Amino acid sequence: MRSHLRQLPSVEKVILPLEVEFPRVPRPVLAAVIRKALGDLRDSGQIPPLPEILAGIRSAVHTFDQQRIQPVINAAGVVIHTNLGRAPLAPCALEDLQSNNSAYNSLEFDLSNGERGSRGSYVEHNLALLCGSDAALVVNNCAAGLFLILHGLITKARPEAIISRGELVQIGGGFRIPEILESAGAVLREVGTTNRTTLQDYAKAVSPKTALILKVHRSNFIMDGFVESVSTRELSSLARKHRVPLAEDLGSEAVLNTAQFAGLEHEPTPAEVLKQGADLICFSGDKLLGGPQAGVVAGNARRVGTLKRNPLFRALRCDKLVLTALQATVDLYLKAASASDLLATLPLARLLSASVEGLTDRAQAITAAAQAPDVTLQIHPASCQVGGGTLPRSALPSVAIQVQISNLAPPKIAARFRSGHPPVVGYVERNRFYLDLRTVFPEQDRLLVEAIRQAGCSNPAS
Ligand SMILES: *Cc1c(COP(=O)(O)O)cnc(C)c1O
Repeated sequence: MRSHLRQLPSVEKVILPLEVEFPRVPRPVLAAVIRKALGDLRDSGQIPPLPEILAGIRSAVHTFDQQRIQPVINAAGVVIHTNLGRAPLAPCALEDLQSNNSAYNSLEFDLSNGERGSRGSYVEHNLALLCGSDAALVVNNCAAGLFLILHGLITKARPEAIISRGELVQIGGGFRIPEILESAGAVLREVGTTNRTTLQDYAKAVSPKTALILKVHRSNFIMDGFVESVSTRELSSLARKHRVPLAEDLGSEAVLNTAQFAGLEHEPTPAEVLKQGADLICFSGDKLLGGPQAGVVAGNARRVGTLKRNPLFRALRCDKLVLTALQATVDLYLKAASASDLLATLPLARLLSASVEGLTDRAQAITAAAQAPDVTLQIHPASCQVGGGTLPRSALPSVAIQVQISNLAPPKIAARFRSGHPPVVGYVERNRFYLDLRTVFPEQDRLLVEAIRQAGCSNPAS
């Protein structure tokens, strides 16, 4: 046993080559990962030969290093990919992030009188304009917006939120509407059935205990067949009659008219939903709006003002990075004279509007440039999702490159692409590996060519 232990290398000895190979990993982190790997070996009592020990440690460092948030090429064919950071930010938002935050800024300072200012007042004013509402506020994400709305409307005497059973949904990442309602102190008053809810169902449920009627956009699945739900307009007149507020969680929303893109259906805009009579709405900043993670609440000034004075708002408010990126994004929309102006300035609009002909041309150029031994490339028509819980009915026509590598199973090919620099995330379908081009920016084509070549000849770390 003792002689075995002597075969374990010292941390000092192992760390030197790894510092060269992983320059972005801080030395104390390297040392900790190495110590852990050596400790595991010691505990196991099985000491393999030195080269095997070194390979194991190297692979542990590589795996850890991969956890760092880093640029990724999204070839997965999901435009708003929650795992890949949702919406890419507009260049003007990135410029403002840099200039506003590398020194000081006027986050909460009123430059006109030199006194304390109101955080977010500029972007809130402009968001209200964009939504056609009297007022708006910004919190951390849409879930926080919904929470704030509920928390603000629920009272001891009026604890009930009326919601259709067809809208008690789960969004990604374990976010369940019923759980968030209950955690905000609401008593669920479920009405209707999974597939059918009528105005009558809502009407029967309204009582002196009703705090609000809530409508939730059914964003990540489709119900077809024997289904019925109640429109915002109908619910609004019921809510008005009984003097209870109507709130709507739009999830993604779209300020841009999504129906202009081939393959997409119309997504209700905030202005449309408010015009149809919702008193308060909430939606995400980083879905179809194309901004940073944020939640926007918009509606009538009195109600929004009440929510802003709720002490909870202080816990849910956004920081200067988010507000900077959001104000730049919102101003893009307000500056665009027509939808086509946005195609040049908003990355999401660029991706959504790419034509299949254009994608095919790029696929041909990429496959021609990426020839490598052992690699076979084939171009296929494909279909892309918008994702992020948006437009579940829509499929965007797209183009994908199928990559085959001799003697390598598709999941292994996928792993090889993921361990590249930068990592490329494709998808495996029916045991074939594909790279979808709609979600790849044309500026990244060169990197994709390089990634394909490398996947063909390299033997990556793990
Ligand atoms: C995505 C989504 C949310 C959650 O949005 P976050 O900004 O991620 O909190 C809430 N409701 C609906 C309907 C959604 O689609």
